[in-house]
Amino acid sequence: MTNAAAQYFRNIKDAVRTTAKGMKITLKYWLREPAITIEYPDRLGEGRTADDIVQDRFRGFLRLDSSICIGCLQCMKTCPIDCILITTEKIGEERHLTRFDVDQSKCMYCGLCVEVCPTSAITFSKRFEGACYDIRELCISHIHQPAPVAKPKAKEKEG
Ligand code: SF4
Ligand code: SF4
Repeated sequence: MTNAAAQYFRNIKDAVRTTAKGMKITLKYWLREPAITIEYPDRLGEGRTADDIVQDRFRGFLRLDSSICIGCLQCMKTCPIDCILITTEKIGEERHLTRFDVDQSKCMYCGLCVEVCPTSAITFSKRFEGACYDIRELCISHIHQPAPVAKPKAKEKEG
């Protein structure tokens, strides 16, 4: 048998051997081992949501608790890529938040805004689904009508 013919049959043998090896692993996981991947979102299990499987320290979309936001603008000023846009207005005797937008399409989840917030009004949620047809949908408005800013506590005033 020539060298070329021998190499040809060796290649066929290798192809059969490696395919069989791969299929053995596939069959093992298919028949014996529990599933490693979870089909999302419809196979999480009865009554379970993404919140049940995402770790507490996960950095998902930002969320705002406007009831404790003092309108200090520190998060907006700290963001290195200008994801946050806040406006405030004096309505009557009180300052109000009139706009609090976070552009999640730009956010790099660095957490600087969360760290700098003196009242923990802005935090990471566990929301991770960002797929959409229009990127503008990822600019999330957290204020839908003017909301009075919270009064800073003494400790926060000092900071
Ligand atoms: S996590 Fe970072 S990039 Fe995202 S809004 Fe906050 S400071 Fe900006
Ligand atoms: S979320 Fe925090 S840092 Fe941002 S304006 Fe409100 S209180 Fe200030």
